[in-house]
Amino acid sequence: MRKPEVFRRDQRQGPAARGVAGPRRQGVYIAAGVAVAVVLVLVAPVARLVTPGVVVVPGSAAPAADSPDPPPVVRSEYPPLPADSRYPDRVLPPVNTTATGERAFNSSRPDGSPMRFDPCRPIHWVLNPDEMPAGGEQVLREAVAEISAATGLAFVDDGLTTERVDDDRESVQPQRYGDRWAPVLVDWVDNSEVTYPDEEVAGVASRTVVTPSGTPESARYVTGWVGLNRAWFTEALADPARAPVARGLMLHELAHLVGLDHVKDPTQVMHATSDTTGLGDGDREGLAIAGAGECYADT
Ligand SMILES: [Zn+2]
Repeated sequence: MRKPEVFRRDQRQGPAARGVAGPRRQGVYIAAGVAVAVVLVLVAPVARLVTPGVVVVPGSAAPAADSPDPPPVVRSEYPPLPADSRYPDRVLPPVNTTATGERAFNSSRPDGSPMRFDPCRPIHWVLNPDEMPAGGEQVLREAVAEISAATGLAFVDDGLTTERVDDDRESVQPQRYGDRWAPVLVDWVDNSEVTYPDEEVAGVASRTVVTPSGTPESARYVTGWVGLNRAWFTEALADPARAPVARGLMLHELAHLVGLDHVKDPTQVMHATSDTTGLGDGDREGLAIAGAGECYADT
């Protein structure tokens, strides 16, 4: 049987993981207690086409619950406030959108607010271009720009890296990146690195939470990484009919990166199993909220 449709399914790892269980693979999933890895999986076509471009899988609605981020990283010292922090001012204006729809966040703090990045500093990111699919960089950069516009979070391209995604990725790597939170890493991974026994994984996204003051109220995202399946993107981007799906998948992963979780509405890019190619109203509302977090001056 062919595998003509995308079936996205996330699998969560880490001590707080719940929902779909999957075998843990070294070198793929981020370490327990550091972040939640979110995985997109392609499997056999049990999906049916209900509206143009939207694929749903009967009986497999997206998980509605948040997947809690694991306990925060504990360090003896945190890096200093970055020089490009605009604290107490945002780098970019907040996004005011009238869009409303279904949206969900990966985890929440005790006051009910979602876990977010600090909008008063840019999110630095680096790209490992090793065996990057043709067209992959353009789709990635367009998606980063779109997520930035939808969140009001500034993204700063720090260039290329040779770092690979890793279970035990350090959130601060002084020798590689200096005394600061390591930038978000985007890396192309192969099937041997992101494979379940009978499934092909299209992408992985994770975030790192820290609580510098020791209180839950200080919890925030400071970095993360995205692993993109090289073979899947190579194939999808080479097919004009499927390239828009690759774009949607890129948006899906980057939205996970900034804290969004799955929803049940199949018209949203954050639906777990649909072939959506662009942001829906719920996605836009969620991303605007994801970009409206608190600012910090402590690290
Ligand atoms: Zn997902």
